[in-house]
Amino acid sequence: MTYPSFVSHWIADVEVPSTGGAVFEKRSPIDDRVVAQVARGGAAEVAHALSAAAGAAEAWAQVPPPKRGAILGRAAQLLREREPLFGAIVQIETGKPWKNAVAEVASSADLAVFMAGEGSRFYGKTMPSPIVNRTVQTLRQPIGICAAIMPFNSPLAGIAWKAFPALLCGNAVVAKSHELTPHTAVEFGKLLKDAGLPAGVYSAVQGFGPDVGAPLVQDSRVGVVSFTGSSATGKLIQKIVSERPVLAKVCLELGGKNPFVVCDDADLDLAAELAVASAFIDAGQRCASGSRIIVFDKVYDAFRKALLARVARVKVGSGPDDECGPVISRANLDRLVQQVAGGVSRGARLIAGGQAVASLAPGYYMAPTVLEDAAPGDEISQQELFGPITCLYRVGGFDEAVHLSNRTHYGLTGAIHTSSVHRAQEFITRYHAGLVSVNGATFGAGPHMPFGGVKNSGNGFREPGTESLDVYTELKTVVINHIPGRV
Ligand code: NAD
Repeated sequence: MTYPSFVSHWIADVEVPSTGGAVFEKRSPIDDRVVAQVARGGAAEVAHALSAAAGAAEAWAQVPPPKRGAILGRAAQLLREREPLFGAIVQIETGKPWKNAVAEVASSADLAVFMAGEGSRFYGKTMPSPIVNRTVQTLRQPIGICAAIMPFNSPLAGIAWKAFPALLCGNAVVAKSHELTPHTAVEFGKLLKDAGLPAGVYSAVQGFGPDVGAPLVQDSRVGVVSFTGSSATGKLIQKIVSERPVLAKVCLELGGKNPFVVCDDADLDLAAELAVASAFIDAGQRCASGSRIIVFDKVYDAFRKALLARVARVKVGSGPDDECGPVISRANLDRLVQQVAGGVSRGARLIAGGQAVASLAPGYYMAPTVLEDAAPGDEISQQELFGPITCLYRVGGFDEAVHLSNRTHYGLTGAIHTSSVHRAQEFITRYHAGLVSVNGATFGAGPHMPFGGVKNSGNGFREPGTESLDVYTELKTVVINHIPGRV
C-alpha cells in the first residue's frame, strides 16, 4: 500500500496512534478526496518522542562520524531503490507533477551521499598560540536533540535537508510533519531504520503547529530548533525559545518575495521561459519562487508579450507532462483568489489567470496568474503569496531595478537577466539576499550549496552544504597546555 488509510506518529521505530485516538483528515489536492485519517498529536506524543530521543541521543553521539555517515550512505541507496514509493507519496500529498515529485527523491538521495562524506571529514581546526607549549583546536560536538519543523511544499526534501545533516552531526531528531503532508516523515523513518539507524534517534510526530510544534520547541531538552516555514511562524518560534529556562540554537529558513530582473540587453525568450519556471513550478509554492518580475521600460512590451505567450502554454495538472500542479489546500486556493481580487481592487491589472481552473475542480488548481501595475508598496507586492501568482513591474533602468528588488522585508533569492557582466556584478553586490542567479531562475539548490536568506527570510544560518554542520553542531575550543620537562 503506497499511502496508508491511517497515518501514525513514528516514535522509537514504531507506528503509534494518538492517545485518545484523535484524528484529522488528509485530503488530496488533486481531487479533494479524503486519502487518510491522521493521528492528531499533542503534548503527550511530543513528550513520548522526546523521551525516546533523550534515551538514544547519548549513544548515537558516541558513534564515530564516519560510521554515522555510512548509515546515511545506506539511506541514499535505499532512497534510490524506493524512488517510486517516495515519488508516489510526495505526489499524493502535494499533487505535484510526477517529474517534480521524483526530482525530490533524487535530490534527497544526493544530499544523503554528500552528508555521508562529511562523516569522514567533520573537520575542526588547529590554531597557533602566543603562549609557549600550548595547543589550541576546535572540535565539532553534537548538540543533543534537534526539533525539525517542516513546511508542506516539498515534504521529502524538507525532512531530508534537516534530518541528514542533523543525524550526521550526532543528534537525535524529533520531526514535526506539516499537517498537510504527514506521511512522508513516517516513511522516511522506516527508511532510516532499514539503513541501520538505532531506534529513538529519529521520530516524527503529527499534528497542528500550536498542538505539537509549540510544546516541542518549548521543551528545554531540545538543543537546536531547525524550522522552515513562514516568517510569522519563525518569529513566533524564536520568541517561544527565548522565553524558555534554557536557550536553544534556532535556525530559521523562511519566506521570500523574490525579484526576477529583465534588463534591456537580456535574451527575452530565455528570460520569459525562466520567469515562468520561477513563478509557476510547484504552483509557486516555493520560498524561492519568482514573484516580482521587474522589467526595463525599453523592453517591457516585448517581454510582456513573450511572457504571456509562454504563460498561455503552461500545462496545469498533475500528469507526466504537466508543469503547474495544484496548491496544497482548498483554503489556500480560496485565499489566493481573494488576494488577487484584492490587488485588482486596489489598482493592479490582471493580465492572466486569477481564478481556479474550473475544468480541474474539485482539485485545488489555480490558473497561472500575472498582474501588472500593482503599486510597489501594496500588499500584493509585499506579502509572500505562496501560489502561482507573479507581478510585472516597469522600471526606467538599473538603479531603479535594484531599488525595487530591495524594497521588501524579504531577502531570499533573486535573478537578473542581462548580457552585461557589469550589470550582473553590480546586482550581485547591491541586491541583499542569500542567493543571486545570473541569467537563470530564482531558485537553484544542491547538496553542496549553502541556501538561506537575509532580513525576514532567515536568521543567518545556511542549509545544506558544509555550512549546515554549523547548524547542527557546537564548536568546542580546546586549549591544551603541556610541560616538556615532565616528559
Ligand atoms: P507555516 O509557517 O504555516 O508552517 C510551517 C510549520 O510550522 C508547520 O509544520 C506548522 O504546523 C508549524 N507551526 C505552525 N505554528 C506553529 C507554532 N505555534 N509552533 C511551532 N510550529 C508551528 O508555513 P507553511 O505555510 O507550511 O510553509 C510555507 C512557508 O515556508 C513559506 O513562507 C515558504 O517561503 C517557507 N519555506 C521556506 C524555505 C526556505 O528554505 N527558506 C523552504 C520552503 C518553504
